[in-house]
Amino acid sequence: MSEAILQVEDLHIWFDLDEGELHAVQGVSFELEPGERMGLVGESGCGKTTTILAVMGLLPANASVAGRVLFNGEDILEEGENTVAPHRWKDIAMVFQGAMNAFNPVKRIGDQIAEPMELHGTARGRQAKGRVGDLLELVGIPGSRADRYPHEFSGGMRQRAAIAMALACGPKILLADEPTTALDVMVQAQILELLVGLTEELGLALVFVTHDLPVVAQTCGRAAVMYAGRIAEEGATADLYHDARHPYTRLLFAATPDLHGKEKIISIPGSPPRLDRVITGCPFQPRCDRAFAPCPTVTPRTVSVAERHVAACHLNEVPAERLGGAGATGAR
Ligand code: SF4
Repeated sequence: MSEAILQVEDLHIWFDLDEGELHAVQGVSFELEPGERMGLVGESGCGKTTTILAVMGLLPANASVAGRVLFNGEDILEEGENTVAPHRWKDIAMVFQGAMNAFNPVKRIGDQIAEPMELHGTARGRQAKGRVGDLLELVGIPGSRADRYPHEFSGGMRQRAAIAMALACGPKILLADEPTTALDVMVQAQILELLVGLTEELGLALVFVTHDLPVVAQTCGRAAVMYAGRIAEEGATADLYHDARHPYTRLLFAATPDLHGKEKIISIPGSPPRLDRVITGCPFQPRCDRAFAPCPTVTPRTVSVAERHVAACHLNEVPAERLGGAGATGAR
């Protein structure tokens, strides 16, 4: 039996738009164990934010969902809002993208952090106030600042306060959507350090959504690389770095500057495919430097390439000698 605290199984999400249907998430599956930190990585529009909004049950009304999301084995999407609402904030909480601007500007920070506690009845009145102070201290803000307004906080402090708000009801899983975007480099490092520290101190499991694979490699034990609404590769971050089995993963690492300047930085040509059109073959094929005969017409299967390491690329199903050395890993 799986020990996973969160299981996402064959998740599909469609948006009904004026222009037609957009298949934003196309069969995403992954598992998260208690206390585990996992990165969900990919370019803008690859479906990572949509995936975690589905886990929270916060997709807009024009979205349709198929597949399952299990929290401790219970399908929390089974009956829509009825089954997901009791878990939202209490068991699974989220730090939203652009959280720095997510606070109501005319309400005190402390009152806003207390809202999820009052909603779930985990604390009220003086008890909630005390907990708000503790939460602020936990994220490195003096508790006395709870009665300040959002405009009195710096960007970094607002992001810390957003994390405090997500922790208000003592969740087991934190979904953090681009939590360091729009912060300067020093503050980014502090927020990452805070998130890692919180997972270790509180035993929280973390899904860290970002476009920055190297940052994930530094902070998370596992990563799922998403492309065009699907998972291209998933595994331990060390395995993805040293033994990438999908060309997109390898190219994402190679597109990052190396601190020592020894390796040439490359860019990935082209852009991801439109998800409002049917994709034939491998979605990465037009940009792939390893594409071969079956790629334009046959959709690659997701196959296990090692223990807890899967990839969706034809290269993993063809004997290396037939490829003439052009494996998925290639040279960085
Ligand atoms: Fe490249 Fe083909 Fe693998 Fe797709 S299946 S990533 S096109 S080699």
